[in-house]
Amino acid sequence: MTTSRLLIVSNRLPVTVSSDGGEFTVSPSAGGLATGLKGPHEQSGGLWIGWPGDVGNLDDAQRASLDEKLAELRTVPLYLDQEEASRFYEGYSNGLLWPLFHSLVDRIPLESRDWEVYRSVNQRFADLTVAHYRPGDTIWVQDYQLMLVPGMLRERLPSATIGFFLHIPFPSSETFRVLPRRQEILTGLLGADLIGFHTFAYLDLFTRSLMRLLGVEAEVDRVRYAGRNLRLGVFPMGIDAARFSSVSSSPEIIAASAAIRERIAPLRILLGVDRMDYTKGIPRRFLAFERLLEKEPELRGKVEFVQVAVPSRTSVDAYVALKQQVDELVGRINGQYGTITWTPIRYLYRSIPEAQLITLYRAADVMLVTPVRDGLNLVAKEFIASRVDDDGVLVLSELAGAASELGESLRVNPYDIDATAEAMATALALSPEDRKARMSALRRRVHAHDVHQWVAHFLRALDDAATQREPVG
Ligand code: UDP
Repeated sequence: MTTSRLLIVSNRLPVTVSSDGGEFTVSPSAGGLATGLKGPHEQSGGLWIGWPGDVGNLDDAQRASLDEKLAELRTVPLYLDQEEASRFYEGYSNGLLWPLFHSLVDRIPLESRDWEVYRSVNQRFADLTVAHYRPGDTIWVQDYQLMLVPGMLRERLPSATIGFFLHIPFPSSETFRVLPRRQEILTGLLGADLIGFHTFAYLDLFTRSLMRLLGVEAEVDRVRYAGRNLRLGVFPMGIDAARFSSVSSSPEIIAASAAIRERIAPLRILLGVDRMDYTKGIPRRFLAFERLLEKEPELRGKVEFVQVAVPSRTSVDAYVALKQQVDELVGRINGQYGTITWTPIRYLYRSIPEAQLITLYRAADVMLVTPVRDGLNLVAKEFIASRVDDDGVLVLSELAGAASELGESLRVNPYDIDATAEAMATALALSPEDRKARMSALRRRVHAHDVHQWVAHFLRALDDAATQREPVG
């Protein structure tokens, strides 16, 4: 692995900033990316550059004090004002790019006027990175909010080592061509030495867009552009599997999950855990559950669907509409099938602490991960890593990036409501031996390809790619 200083550039810093009477507290937050990059970030003496979240209007002294606290965690803040946050983050990134890259063209707004702000915020990220760059550093830019940054960095730092990873899918060229600024986005990405994707399918679609929209021909894993060689690679992200296993094996979690099962016995639990996002397929999943209850009356009163839906992007219109649709569906299904003693769907519209999440993973009989499109899906892997008892069944959408790795799950087309209902029934009927065989194979894979291996693999490939770049001039 590279031993150079690592500069990570991502939209959000992996920190939570809170303030009490003007005094700031900064604590590390534990997302998947932060966990994986913690080692290389600290050990390389590197920096993490990104937005610390909405910290309100600060005067100079407050800002200096916050900067200092962030610097202790080797993080460098890029402050977005309210207009930038709303137009760069909510408007262009989440309003337009998110649905488009998930191939959900009907969710894009009628008109978007946020391109200039997306471009200028990307420029600010690039400028701040250049200001902190030292020759020999490795720069790793993350995700769809910052797709122009590699190109902007390459202009200023022609010989820097620059990696980019896309955490969401890449759509077909017929979908991607809908984006008015498609060319700028592609050339922005091509500033990197290595562009990483979760699956080969996304990589392949990216090369087709390069060909059809830029006329740039790529080989399977490499492209020549502007006198440089670039690499393309497939790196399905992993999780901190050892930690999920160890938390799940703790006496508290074992007792808590046994208590849930005892309380609802003899009911069996179907579980969904998602951000409240239209890519996650929550409404169709509920329709499939309704179909199951309709077609298999003997299951009524015997199963309970627990759905955790974490509020997300609540000021984007499409998310407001989704919340309403989900509320109505839950009401309708519970109204139709519920009894005085049984509620078919238990619906939690909130985020839950990690210990509770792992308790639910352990208590569930069947985990439903049925997005209509998902870059990878970490929840599926977290469920598997938490099943130290080698039990539980994963029903997984074939449209989640993780489906290409998790072959022992029951795979479904989430658009096919009947097939999803049947998969729920099959999952509930699997024998204990079958469940164990599937889960232990899945667990081995999730442990072997964890987030630490993902980071090491990407950085090694980036090192290789940079040595073969042949810079211009
Ligand atoms: N998660 C969370 N709070 C909750 C429930 C889940 O932070 O109340 C986490 C979950 O553990 C997982 C992440 O949210 O790590 C969701 O990641 P995933 O890749 O499944 O979907 P994304 O939300 O990134 O689209």
